Amino acid sequence: MNDEAMNNAALIVEGVTKRYGAGATEVTAVREVSMAVAPGEIVLIMGPSGSGKTTLLSMLGALLKPTEGAIQLNGDMISALAENRLPDIRLIKFGFIFQDFNLLSALSALENVALVAQLAGAKGREARKRAAGLMTDLGLGERLNFLPEKLSGGEKQRVAIARALVNDPAIILADEPTANLDSKIGHEIMRLLRRIAKEQNRSVVIVSHDQRIKDIADRVLWLEDGQFKEM
Ligand code: ADP
Ligand code: MG
Repeated sequence: MNDEAMNNAALIVEGVTKRYGAGATEVTAVREVSMAVAPGEIVLIMGPSGSGKTTLLSMLGALLKPTEGAIQLNGDMISALAENRLPDIRLIKFGFIFQDFNLLSALSALENVALVAQLAGAKGREARKRAAGLMTDLGLGERLNFLPEKLSGGEKQRVAIARALVNDPAIILADEPTANLDSKIGHEIMRLLRRIAKEQNRSVVIVSHDQRIKDIADRVLWLEDGQFKEM
C-alpha cells in the first residue's frame, strides 16, 4: 500500500495477532495480519471455517483486544484504549451485522433499532423517529411494530442493518451476513450494503465463505490459518 492510501484509510491494521488460551491449549487464530480499509470501500474477507475470520472482525470492531499489533480508526489507536472506553467506541464508531441477526425477541423491529440509538444517548422520541426513518428507507415501513418472529430472514437482516446504521458509524462490520438467507435474498442484502457504502461513504468489511457475494466487493482478501494468502 502506498502512503497516500495509508493516509486516507479509515481503518488501519498493523501486524495484528490473536492467541487464545495458553500453554498446550494455545491457539493462534490470527497471525501478524495487516490491512487498511478506505472510506466507502467494501472489503470482503473470505476463507474456510476456522481460518480466523470472526476473530479478525471482532478485533477490527474493538470487541476483542489483539494479543499483538495495532488497530487505528481515523487516526485513533483503538487497540490501545482501556477496556472501559470500548463500549462507547463500539456503539458510535461501528455498526455490526451478524449471521443470526441477533435481534431481541421481546422487542418490536422498531424498538430493536431505537434501543441502540438510546444507548448512544438519543432521547426515546428522537431515537424512535430516527429508527423509523431509517427503516422506511430500507423498505421496512410496514413492519415497524412487528416482533422479529413475524419477519422473514431478509427482513430481519434489514432490521439488523438499520440497527447497525442508527448511530451513523464510519465502519460497518458484517460476519457471514448471508449465511441464513437464501441466495436471492442474500444477494439483495449484499447490494443494499454496497449501496450504503457508496452513497454514504462508509467502509464495509464483510467476512464470509460465500463465494456468491464476491462480485459486490471492491476487494477480496483470502484468509487461511490466520494469515492472508494469494487467492
Ligand atoms: P472463522 O470465523 O474463520 O471460522 P474463528 O475466528 O471463529 O474462525 O476461529 C479461528 C480459530 O480460533 C479456530 O481454530 C477456533 O477454534 C479458535 N477460536 C475461536 N474463538 C476462540 C475462543 N474464544 N477460544 C479459543 N479458541 C477460539
Ligand atoms: Mg466465523
